[in-house]
Amino acid sequence: MLNPATGEALKAEDLYPLFAEECARQEMNTTDRWIEIPDEVRDMYRIWRPTPLVRAGGLERALGTRAHIYFKNESVSPVGSHKLNSAIPQAYYAKREGLTNLTTETGAGQWGAALSLATRHFGIDLAVYMVKVSYNQKPYRRSIMQTYGAEVIASPSMSTRAGRKIITEHPNYQGSLGTAISEAVELAVSTPGCKYALGSVLNHVSLHQTVIGLEAERQMDMAGEYPDVVIGCFGGGSNFSGVAFPFMRHNFAGETKTRFIAAEPESCPKLTRGKMRYDFGDEAGYTPLIPMLTLGHNFAPANIHAGGLRYHGAGAIVSRLRDDNLMEAVDIPQLESFEAATLFARSEGLIPAPESAHAIAAAIREARKADEAGEDRVILFNLSGHGLIDMMSYDRFFAGDLQNYSIPDSEIEANTAGLKEA
Ligand SMILES: *Cc1c(COP(=O)(O)O)cnc(C)c1O
Repeated sequence: MLNPATGEALKAEDLYPLFAEECARQEMNTTDRWIEIPDEVRDMYRIWRPTPLVRAGGLERALGTRAHIYFKNESVSPVGSHKLNSAIPQAYYAKREGLTNLTTETGAGQWGAALSLATRHFGIDLAVYMVKVSYNQKPYRRSIMQTYGAEVIASPSMSTRAGRKIITEHPNYQGSLGTAISEAVELAVSTPGCKYALGSVLNHVSLHQTVIGLEAERQMDMAGEYPDVVIGCFGGGSNFSGVAFPFMRHNFAGETKTRFIAAEPESCPKLTRGKMRYDFGDEAGYTPLIPMLTLGHNFAPANIHAGGLRYHGAGAIVSRLRDDNLMEAVDIPQLESFEAATLFARSEGLIPAPESAHAIAAAIREARKADEAGEDRVILFNLSGHGLIDMMSYDRFFAGDLQNYSIPDSEIEANTAGLKEA
C-alpha cells in the first residue's frame, strides 16, 4: 500500500493511527506462514464453530447432476454470516491494546451486526455508519446492531465532513460502502481511544477468515473427497479468500490443480472488468492507496439486493491472484442469483443471503458444465450467510420487481482515469 501524500510504501506503523496495532502488523506480515488464533478468540468461536460442511444432495438431485456439490455453512453463526470470524479477533486486539471505542461501516448490515456482538463481548463501544439504502431497506439488521448495543448512523450523514460534503453535492445520494468508510475513518482518527475496523478487503481480514477453508479442508478429508473447484461470492474478498486460500496453498506447492472461482455481481464487476490500479478504499480518499482491481473509488453501484457485494475494489492479494490468472472470476446477473437462491432454498431448506446466492449460481453453472462435458466434478462453495433478514429482497424478486444491471465500459474508463497503474 502507498501513502497517498508521499507516494511511499507504507509500513505497519503507518497504519497504527487507523487500526488496532496487531491488525496493522498482520496486514503487513510477509514472514510468518501461520499466525496462531488467540485463546480468547477460540473461546468465542466455540459458540458456533466448527461450522458444518454439507453435501448438497437435494440440490444435486434438483439439478440432476453427477457432480458432487458441497457447501460450508457459515450461516450458522449467531449473526448469520461469516463476518463474525474477523469481528471477534479485531475486537479482541482492540481491547488488548486498551482502546475504548471502535468505528466501522456496514453495507447490508452483516459486518455491523458481527462487530456489534464482538465489541459487546469485549466491552468496547461501537459506532456503525450504515449505507443509507440498506438502513432503509433492511431495518432489521439495524435493530440487531442496536440490540447488541451499537450506535447506528445512516450514511451519508451530517456528522462528518465527508458526509456533509456528499449530501451537499448530491442530496438524494443513497450511500455506498466507500462513503460510509470515509465517515467511519474520519470519526476514528478524530476521537481519542478510538480506532477503525474493516470487515473485508484487507489482508488481515482475509487471514482471520481462513478458518473457513482450514476447517473445510479437514472436513472434505473426512468425506473422502477433495474439491476440483472452490467457489465464494465476492464483495471485497474476505469469504472467498477464507474458503479458497487454504486450498490454494496446495496448488502453489504443486500438489493439486484446484480451480478457484470468485462470483461477483454483474453490476459491480471489479474482478472481470476492473483495472489494476492504486486506488483508495473509500470514497473521500482517507485510506492508503491499495493496489487493487478497481472500478474507481467514485463508482456508485446499482442498488442491487446483495448489498454486501456493492464495493468498488478487490483486496490486494486476490487482485494479484486474478491478474496472474491463478484464479477465475464470473459475473452473475441479479436475476440468475435469485433463481439459484430459490432453487437452493427449495432443495436444501436453507434460505441463502442474496450475496451467497452468487456462489450458488456459480456452483450450478459449474455442475452443468461438468455434465455437458461428461466429467465428474467435486464442487465446494461457501454459503457465506442466510437470508432470513433479507426476505424483502425475495418478495421483490417474486413480484417481478428486480432487474439486471450492467455498466458500460466508458463508465469504468472514466472512473479509473487518473489512477496510477499497479
Ligand atoms: C459481507 C458479505 C459478503 C461479501 O463480503 P466479502 O468480504 O467479499 O466476503 C458475502 N456474503 C455475506 C453473507 C456477507 O455478509
